[in-house]
Amino acid sequence: MLNKKQLSHIEKRLLEERARALRSLGLFDQMAKADRESGDSDLSVYTDHMADQGTEAMEREKAALFATKEGRYLYRIEEALRRLYNAPENFGSCHTCGADVGFERLDALPHARYCIECKVKEEEAA
Ligand SMILES: [Zn+2]
Repeated sequence: MLNKKQLSHIEKRLLEERARALRSLGLFDQMAKADRESGDSDLSVYTDHMADQGTEAMEREKAALFATKEGRYLYRIEEALRRLYNAPENFGSCHTCGADVGFERLDALPHARYCIECKVKEEEAA
């Protein structure tokens, strides 16, 4: 279980990583504009934005985004931010065993969903 200070640190890390991923995808300016227009400065998620549109063009754009490693990474970051905002009390718990993922691991890998033991098991199984 993370304390408030740790949570806000992870939030900052996630936002940094999100900005970095958006920049490398060439989407940063587009997103900054969308953020301003929606008035939701905390989290106006690119993926949510596209889900709202729901057009065929948007679906294609989404598919193209997810076809890249950076695009999938961005999705994981945003998913983690959503988890952090929606259920901060559960953030940092392993999705498989419920153990603490650990602050140091989250600092290095803020979108981590599994503790190191479960991650290793998963990789061995794969
Ligand atoms: Zn675990």
